[in-house]
Amino acid sequence: MKTWIAAVATALMVALAGPVLAQDSAGWSLAIHGGAGVIERGSLTPEQDAAYRAALEEALDVGAEVLDGGGTALDAVEAVIQVLEDNPLFNAGRGAVFTADGRIEHDAAIMDGTTLDAGAVAGLTRTRHPISAARAVMENSPHVFLIGQGAETFARDQGLEEVEPAWFFTERRWRGLVRQLEREGLPVPARPEGAPAEGAMAAVAPPLDERKFGTVGVVAVDRVGRLAAGTSTGGMSGKRWGRVGDVPVIGAGTYASNAEGCAVSATGSGEYFIRATVARDICARYAWELSYPESEENRAMAVEDVCSPDTACAGPRQPVHVAASEEMREVGDLGGEGGVIVMTAQGQAWFEMNTSGMYRGRVSENGERRVAIYADEED
Ligand code: ASP
Repeated sequence: MKTWIAAVATALMVALAGPVLAQDSAGWSLAIHGGAGVIERGSLTPEQDAAYRAALEEALDVGAEVLDGGGTALDAVEAVIQVLEDNPLFNAGRGAVFTADGRIEHDAAIMDGTTLDAGAVAGLTRTRHPISAARAVMENSPHVFLIGQGAETFARDQGLEEVEPAWFFTERRWRGLVRQLEREGLPVPARPEGAPAEGAMAAVAPPLDERKFGTVGVVAVDRVGRLAAGTSTGGMSGKRWGRVGDVPVIGAGTYASNAEGCAVSATGSGEYFIRATVARDICARYAWELSYPESEENRAMAVEDVCSPDTACAGPRQPVHVAASEEMREVGDLGGEGGVIVMTAQGQAWFEMNTSGMYRGRVSENGERRVAIYADEED
């Protein structure tokens, strides 16, 4: 019965959205990350470890509720990222890192795998939920990527909630910036206007000297088989000159494609993820790179087999773990570090990192549920 309903729903989606959903949906599935980096066992106190795990669990609850209620992958991605943006533990929304001149500039992107529609923003300073601004760009503008003041004006016109910049302030990110600038011999800006008095703000926080990326990201597939990906970040602490990382660059830090059966969100040293075009590359490897012998004839045949409009990528693929680990090896070869989360159209979640940890979790309709932090921990 369920299979029959899924088949009808899939056929309906294919009719509505074009021939991109030919895979049988295996139920909804969602994976999240809250940043990768040098997160070694023993580097977090038991309280910090527990606080991160609780935050990840809360985010999984929100995603499960949306998807279990029949919501779309896009809705789940946005809702979960909003929760993570509001949580000061992560480098996105509240709790984002500071620029060298003491401001907070948010970047975010979202992508709908069924249509390849995408929206991205960079350099937002007041929009409470940058991920919602990205979604508004995707749905309500003719553009893909808006930056700075223009993006902020657009978000305001869309009726999105604004807050004072000080709302995003956290003491530990501020102290992290001050220490970083002192170490680099750069001038330390004045404490931001409206920030709470020094010492007034208590927060569970990891040590300040950690090398950690706290970007948040979500990949999901819903019951109908629609894939979506989203990522949100404050970027890199101490960034200057309007620096923008990989997160809002479609195909670098964020990508989703039902035609390729894959969605990706990344975290790490963005400059390397941009140069390696990580997110799109993983999906392309997954869809196109084939395990059978390399020959012109095989390749021609396989390409047709994999992605003709009728079969919609139903043919042989590079396994998702191979696609992700090969890509992260390339990032590492360039000198970059970080991690990715990948979701397939069949609901298989995969986590890959070349760091000692990544805050991460997954939940699916078939009962899988897990959160993890350290690289050697089962996920
Ligand atoms: N990838 C982000 C950036 O480069 C940073 C992060 O993942 O925390 O902006």
